[in-house]
Amino acid sequence: MKRLTGFQPTGRLHLGNLLGAMLPMIAAQETNESLVFVADLHAMTMDHDPARLRELTLETATLLLAAGLDPSRTTLFAQSSVPAHYELHYLLECATGYGEAARMIQFKEKSARGGPVRLSLLTYPVLMAADILVHDSDEVPVGDDQNQHLELARTVAERFNKRYGPTFRVPVGVLPAGVARVMNLADPAAKMSKSAAGDVGRIGLLDPPAKVRKTIMRAVTDTLGEVRRDPVGQPGVTNLLTILEACGGSADFTSYGALKTAVADAVEEMLAPIRARHAELAKDPGHVRSVLDAGRERVLPTAEATVRRAKEAVGVY
Ligand code: ATP
Ligand code: MG
Repeated sequence: MKRLTGFQPTGRLHLGNLLGAMLPMIAAQETNESLVFVADLHAMTMDHDPARLRELTLETATLLLAAGLDPSRTTLFAQSSVPAHYELHYLLECATGYGEAARMIQFKEKSARGGPVRLSLLTYPVLMAADILVHDSDEVPVGDDQNQHLELARTVAERFNKRYGPTFRVPVGVLPAGVARVMNLADPAAKMSKSAAGDVGRIGLLDPPAKVRKTIMRAVTDTLGEVRRDPVGQPGVTNLLTILEACGGSADFTSYGALKTAVADAVEEMLAPIRARHAELAKDPGHVRSVLDAGRERVLPTAEATVRRAKEAVGVY
């Protein structure tokens, strides 16, 4: 089974990315053929700064390696380095309705924030469909926020196959094996997110230990004074318990202070080796780039073959 996962370099990777996507992907590399890409094209749908995008793309790849991605088993590449993504994107645009794209919740939410809206924000799910289909993926781990986009990818693939003949493998969405959602520690109603403004309540994988501890000790809880799982009544405490368990700790506390201390210890134990490996890898950005380049070379034949099939099917030269 070929599994595809993307990470957008819209900001710095955080604990939610690690527990929800990176660790499950790393655990699955034993059994699955995994493709992992840094989705740098997707980081351009909103205002972006070129130097920061360049830096975050390399940092994201470096952190994936630091967390345990094994490039001999998992193919790691940068989305923008594989032209087949853009080529297929256009061909799929010609098989997608304007209305289908415009009713995507993410487009509606992000375009309603005010300011100029890039056309690429509207076509984002079509590029995502191209990302998935171009590599003949079988499985795509998707959280609830990406479900609608995966469904669109499947709809477009099926339509294309029906209209022009069998061209694409139609993938299925699978539930990610890790933590469904790590919430923001300062606002447990919102998920921890890369692109959210400011970094309050977010634990960056490269944050210094003192900052991580402070963020956890200041986590918003409640006044009930009971340590138990109750996502509706006690979302803050529940989030701390989720993090603790995912980091290998066990909870048997009566006070919030003791719970937070245990979470801070468990998170630090999880992050310390990643931070150390990142520091080593970051000394040699040329090595990380060579991993990305080798990944591109490995995916090119399949990606180019898919584009060739699609071009022939629709009748372009
Ligand atoms: P953005 O704010 O730009 O959407 P993000 O933090 O949501 O960034 P993505 O690059 O969109 O990160 O997602 C990378 C992977 O991390 C996806 O598989 C996504 O489901 C997972 N993920 C993102 N945020 C969380 C979270 N808070 N808890 C668990 N998993 C998460
Ligand atoms: Mg996201």
